[in-house]
Amino acid sequence: MTKWVLFFGNANAEGSAEQKELLGGKGAGLAEMTNLGIPVPPGFTMTTEVCTYYYSNNKRYPDELKEQAEAAIARVQEIMGRTFGDADNPLLFSVRSGAKVSMPGMMDTVLNLGLNDRTVEGLAKMSGDPRFAWDSYRRFVAMYGDVVLDMKPGKKTDDDPFDSILEAVKRETGARYDTDLKTEDLRKLVSLFKAEIKRQKGVDFPEEPIEQLWGAIGAVFGSWMNDRAVAYRELYQIPGDWGTAVNVQTMVFGNLGDTSGTGVGFTRNPALGDNAMYGEFLMNAQGEDVVAGIRTPRPIGELKTSVPRAYDQLLEIRRKLEKHFRDMQDFEFTIENGKLWMLQTRTGKRHPFAAARMAVDMEAEGLISKKEAVMRPEADGIAAFLAPIFDSEAKARALREDRIIAKGLPAGPGGASGCVVFNAQDAEEWKKRGEKVLLVRKFTSPEDIRGMDAAQGILTAQGGMTSHAALVARQMGKVCIVGCGALNIDYAKAEMEVAGKLIREGDLLSIDGFSAEVILGKLETRPSEVLQVLRGELDPNNSKNWGQFIKLMSWADEFRRLEVWTNADTPGQAETAVKLGAQGIGLCRTEHMFFEGDRILHVRRMILSEDEAQRREALMKLFPMQKKDFMGIFKAMEGRPVTVRLLDPPLHEFLPSQEALKPEVFAQKVKDIAESFNITSEEVEERIEALHENNPMLGHRGCRLGISYPEIYEMQVRAIIEAACEVAKSGIPVNPEIMIPVVSAAMEMEIVGKQVRSIADAIISSSGIELKYLVGTMIELPRACIVADRIAREAEFFSFGTNDLTQTTCGISRDDVKSFLGTYIAKNIYSIDPFQRIDREGVGELMKMAVAKGRAEKPGLKIGICGEHGGEANSVEFCHSIGLNYVSCSPFRVPVARLAAAQAALKEVERRGG
Ligand code: PEP
Ligand code: MG
Repeated sequence: MTKWVLFFGNANAEGSAEQKELLGGKGAGLAEMTNLGIPVPPGFTMTTEVCTYYYSNNKRYPDELKEQAEAAIARVQEIMGRTFGDADNPLLFSVRSGAKVSMPGMMDTVLNLGLNDRTVEGLAKMSGDPRFAWDSYRRFVAMYGDVVLDMKPGKKTDDDPFDSILEAVKRETGARYDTDLKTEDLRKLVSLFKAEIKRQKGVDFPEEPIEQLWGAIGAVFGSWMNDRAVAYRELYQIPGDWGTAVNVQTMVFGNLGDTSGTGVGFTRNPALGDNAMYGEFLMNAQGEDVVAGIRTPRPIGELKTSVPRAYDQLLEIRRKLEKHFRDMQDFEFTIENGKLWMLQTRTGKRHPFAAARMAVDMEAEGLISKKEAVMRPEADGIAAFLAPIFDSEAKARALREDRIIAKGLPAGPGGASGCVVFNAQDAEEWKKRGEKVLLVRKFTSPEDIRGMDAAQGILTAQGGMTSHAALVARQMGKVCIVGCGALNIDYAKAEMEVAGKLIREGDLLSIDGFSAEVILGKLETRPSEVLQVLRGELDPNNSKNWGQFIKLMSWADEFRRLEVWTNADTPGQAETAVKLGAQGIGLCRTEHMFFEGDRILHVRRMILSEDEAQRREALMKLFPMQKKDFMGIFKAMEGRPVTVRLLDPPLHEFLPSQEALKPEVFAQKVKDIAESFNITSEEVEERIEALHENNPMLGHRGCRLGISYPEIYEMQVRAIIEAACEVAKSGIPVNPEIMIPVVSAAMEMEIVGKQVRSIADAIISSSGIELKYLVGTMIELPRACIVADRIAREAEFFSFGTNDLTQTTCGISRDDVKSFLGTYIAKNIYSIDPFQRIDREGVGELMKMAVAKGRAEKPGLKIGICGEHGGEANSVEFCHSIGLNYVSCSPFRVPVARLAAAQAALKEVERRGG
């Protein structure tokens, strides 16, 4: 018989932490804690299989479910010595969702279940506190109405019907806070709430506890498919068929008075990674008061004075949990009359920055191995170590100018500036218009996730470090401040008052996620500590971040097989990349050098030339500059491979564009060029016209230019090889690799390759030194992949240009993809932007073909990638899997690629059972 219900209680659980898929994260954590002897209120978990069954059987439950649930209830009753529905000694339940991965706040919860007009009296007797009993009851009726009877407010601007009644009663009785309400007022609330249910829904509030229980279970399973949960799953790519479990657990009360309370915490700081228990609690409160972020809670350290015994016990549990799970846990607890109960533990979400720092610390503490430490942080997130922070000068100026207007809690590190918007939809829309925005809310709710994703940073007035805003921001790696009580936000007017200052929608504001300060205006940023150390501006001994960063990176290097190179066009970029660990340059785009200083003049001269002689004359002017650039790069790379790509873009890109410029600006530019070359404007315009192409990306570019105008590549090859010879002569080793772009036919490679070699060999032999160099090609067209074996005869290396390869394989212009990509992703035609992550089933297959064919012709052929994908973790893993030698990416992505390459290698070992 299928086991649909698994019991836990009294140091004895039927499930375990291993069964996350079946029990969901929460259920698995409760079972594991129970087995560890940690105090957990007894209960049972209905498995995710019930949810899948429910949705595939027309919202019907499996036949055996009822019987199994009743048996579990009986066991709980026995342990607790209370009875569900009993008028004297009632057992109450909480009913909560729990999917395999946490989806904070997306699904529903019902607390205090089992209360009715009879049991409320029992609870009053049991607790000796009628006010508490009626307070619990009115909360339950409202929650039941909201969740089970679907009386949640429809629109953002609508009021919650139960809140409106509560506020009215408070006004009537002169109560300022909920806690000022008397038992009689609460009784009244219960009957008003019930009347509202009857009015809106036409049904009576169910008095029968077992009916309440099945209603709540159905609502929680139902919430798996609510809009918020579906949107969340889309964003985080969580399959809809996983389903949620439902946990039914004995209620314990944090609102029984001054020795009761409730809280949430992390075994370490989830925003910054520090090794100290982190969290917050509220005395005399129930769980949802903390998580909803409506009352700002107190830091967990203060629990030491409020309930010292519970605090010590919590410290001990923290130690036990970390030792057992070998990872940071986030937990929920309730103290009922001084007794601590744990309600949840799970591996906690953390900011990527914190993830990396914690992993390094945990290795040092002997909790995890080096390999595990390398596997822990998301590779893409390691970029957080390089994220800009506010310039301290700019901060000091802001302080002097009285622009630091408020302080909250630091929930996501980094510095962010942007225009203030007050709701999530605006954040999305403004971002689409190209604005940088800060999303400012009283508190965020699960509906806001898309807007949070669109914002540079998030600032909330209420809530603590475990509020929704804090959790989600950390997960997204956003800069975030929460609980900033000084913000008086008026949504209707789209403005807020802060410390006597009025801030309107669209005004510039900055937030410092390290210090939690809110600053008026835009603040200049400065490089992160890691970059400061690299640049010699900060003593490495004074930077803990730096120490942790290099440790993690050096471990990654121990495990990875892929080399990590960089795309760099200047000596400065090359130096930064080398400091960040680059082992070579995989792409130096020579055309980027053409725009510096007055070079563009000579480039234009070359383009406007009427014949080869004139062209050569202009190229001669460019030659010394190119040579000097290459010398700088070779020196900076100190013998590491430097892949220089010969000219790629169509020539008209160097001339003013009639389409992109206003007519008068275009005319002026043409006039300037004509004057400097002593020709007429008409002649310039004619030449521009002649060079015009309808589809330049597929036009006269890449090696096609080199074949039409061999003197251009001749100049470039001379500059590269002469530079290499001179640097080599000065005693610095050099390792040039010359790369031919946009090759589609083996003949192209043969013609250009021959030309390159004859020029290079002549220079080398006359220089009298030994210099090795390679001539290879980019593989960036589908045809090149198909004929890769023939190309390999002529090429000494391949480098995948996956930007063009994606464009030409998918037939999607890389410059125009944005217009329809959103629709495509929403319809799952592409699951993700193929220009960001390698489209494995299309582009990836062509890459595999090129690797196989290339190496069949030339075993051991060196193959890399220099398209943007080389710095994206998932694509790096793919490159590892198809046996590339290196990935090349922009300098700041080098650490990401190092870590991703190590993770790919470790995953492979694991797959092979090594
Ligand atoms: C590519 O196409 O992937 C590439 C690296 O070249 P570019 O982006 O310069 O076209
Ligand atoms: Mg390209």
